[in-house]
Amino acid sequence: MARDPRYDILFEPVRIGPVTAKNRFYQVPHCNGMGYRDATSNAAMRHVKAEGGWGVVCTEQVEIHPSGDITPFIELRLWDGSDVPMLARISDAIHSQNALAGIQLAHNGMNAPNLTSREIPFGPGDLPVFSIFNDPVQARAMDKTDIRNLRRWHRNAALRGREAGYDIVYVYAGKLFGGAMFFLSRRYNQRNDEYGGSLENRARLLKELIEETRDAVGDTCAVACRISVDELLGPDGLHREEAHEVIAHLAEVPDLWDLTLSSWDNDSQTSRFADEAYQEPFVTGVKKLTTKPVVGVGRFTSPDTMVRQVRSGILDFVGAARPSIADPFLPKKVEEGRLEDIRECIGCNICVAGDHQTNPSRCTQNPSMGEEWRRGWHPERIRARTSDDTILVVGAGPAGLEATMMLARRGHEVTLAEGGDTLGGRVMRERHLPGLHAWARVSDYRIGQIATMPNVQIYRESRLDAEGVLGFGFNRVVVATGSTWRRDGVARAVLKPVPIAEGAEVLNPDDLISGMRPKARNVVIYDDDHYYMGGVLAELLVREGYGVTLATPAADASNWTHWTMEQHRIQARLLGLGVKIMPHRVLTDIGAGGVTLACTYTGTTVAVEGCTLLVTARLPTNELARALEARRDDWGAAGIASVAAIGDALAPGTVAAAVFGGRRYAEEFDVVRSPDEPLFKREVAGLTAEALPWS
Ligand code: ADP
Ligand code: SF4
Repeated sequence: MARDPRYDILFEPVRIGPVTAKNRFYQVPHCNGMGYRDATSNAAMRHVKAEGGWGVVCTEQVEIHPSGDITPFIELRLWDGSDVPMLARISDAIHSQNALAGIQLAHNGMNAPNLTSREIPFGPGDLPVFSIFNDPVQARAMDKTDIRNLRRWHRNAALRGREAGYDIVYVYAGKLFGGAMFFLSRRYNQRNDEYGGSLENRARLLKELIEETRDAVGDTCAVACRISVDELLGPDGLHREEAHEVIAHLAEVPDLWDLTLSSWDNDSQTSRFADEAYQEPFVTGVKKLTTKPVVGVGRFTSPDTMVRQVRSGILDFVGAARPSIADPFLPKKVEEGRLEDIRECIGCNICVAGDHQTNPSRCTQNPSMGEEWRRGWHPERIRARTSDDTILVVGAGPAGLEATMMLARRGHEVTLAEGGDTLGGRVMRERHLPGLHAWARVSDYRIGQIATMPNVQIYRESRLDAEGVLGFGFNRVVVATGSTWRRDGVARAVLKPVPIAEGAEVLNPDDLISGMRPKARNVVIYDDDHYYMGGVLAELLVREGYGVTLATPAADASNWTHWTMEQHRIQARLLGLGVKIMPHRVLTDIGAGGVTLACTYTGTTVAVEGCTLLVTARLPTNELARALEARRDDWGAAGIASVAAIGDALAPGTVAAAVFGGRRYAEEFDVVRSPDEPLFKREVAGLTAEALPWS
């Protein structure tokens, strides 16, 4: 199909200093949890984005010196020349697909606890480092020698970046990562020398870094400045007016302005709290301050929004981190007029959690993220089938839909049987809960894809039992029947069912999702799940007029969402709505009119009135898988070669894990491999060739 001419503007080349991007699709720098540890995985991930049509593909932040070491996070390093080959592998991967390669140099300053290097961190003043674990580390105020050293290190890193093949070299002053941002900020910068005080003084270091980078590499490389346009702290923080003044002051100094909100949790807000293009009010007007191209983000997935931002003079480049993770082929799909094939980011920040937990980032929508090299997965392609096996997938949740779609792409005849009248499983059921609407994109995309595939048969309202499955005669059976929430309090803190009094009203999330509501006016939510469900149901019920107490053994509501950078927003919203949050409480028993909770430290108990909503563990819906297993002797006669449970039916987990399970089945069901073989490829650090005292 041809591209819609409305989108032509997105495919215009744009000049950035001495280089030219082939189009306006710009993958801004983003972390990925792979960094220097999984360098070839990292290169393969960037390669796929370049293949998918992004005109510019950038690295994550690249530490320029051990004194700005952001351990425990795993980003890239360019501390010295020995890191150049690793960085060159990434730029080669990007260039091989005709995209420009950008490198985001960073000295994290007060954001770097230096847990690896053990250097004393430094910044504008003597203050504790701003690190998410509140490390007991203080930074020292930089003197003039430190400033000179930093400038020289940055310049040398720029030269190494060019040597590694990069076309765009960043100076980073955003998101409270790039050290220069701490100098811009009045909160952190209370110096009274020429680097503090007036805006011009606070911007001096940034100006010097940009100028010196240009001086070093600007003849062949574009120099980009990534800057925060607001910290969302009002006048206390760097705010829009002030940031725009900085940009006006340095207007023509860099070759490109890359705009972010600060800190990262504001820049990458989840769909629960912000819609597409939410950064528009902060970036509008920047283009009037400079003639240089401007890139901004906003979880853009709609080409119409992208075109509007470009046409209305807000941005020159459509920046994307998460939408490029969810669909590395987004530009190609727009170019080829295949908008319905775009796999839209759902704004869940599971990718961010990966980086925070220092594992390779995974993506709910794109299960091949991080698996491009180590498992050889591709976001769009999968190898052709090696047999004529017909396949029955039971259950049309995220796991069943992904398995169906990918098996059908391999060329198999696939039948999908769903017990209910709608496809989509949990994401379709949960889409009506507060803030979870965008999660339905997981099923929307897959349902849209399989609807066009002639080799997929779909049966709704077909709840299957073992007898029914055996009667069909498919060669392979995939059981993707999901899970149910427990009703007995068992999860992490409580491992044996809690005593429940006769007549007590006890509900679980499945009840509320299916439309049931408590009879009592006060509800005690006991959350030992810690992900989104407890907080979401608290919001639902309090908005409907119930008195809601959320008790949890954790320190705060929806505790795991610290990793997705949402916890503070969730807690603020619940408190604002009048939810009473009781942390450090474990459920001991459920009475007819209320619950007893014990302090997790002292054991002191307290009684709270109300009915009980248990958000605890889930049980796999594995009756079908078990019943089929019990009838293994009948498989041969029925033509069945294998039965496998996937997704929540195997072990309840995240939607991302269910989608991954579906993909994995489609990739591996016909691979004969010993359980003792390696599961995937990995890189082992090269050992020093140095003679060691004991050798
Ligand atoms: P997952 O996240 O693992 O994909 P979900 O709970 O989202 O799991 O989806 C499971 C789907 O399986 C639900 O739509 C449910 O209706 C369906 N299902 C469960 N048991 C059966 C069955 N025996 N036959 C057909 N469909 C079933
Ligand atoms: Fe988007 Fe979620 Fe994928 Fe991140 S993990 S890119 S937020 S869909």
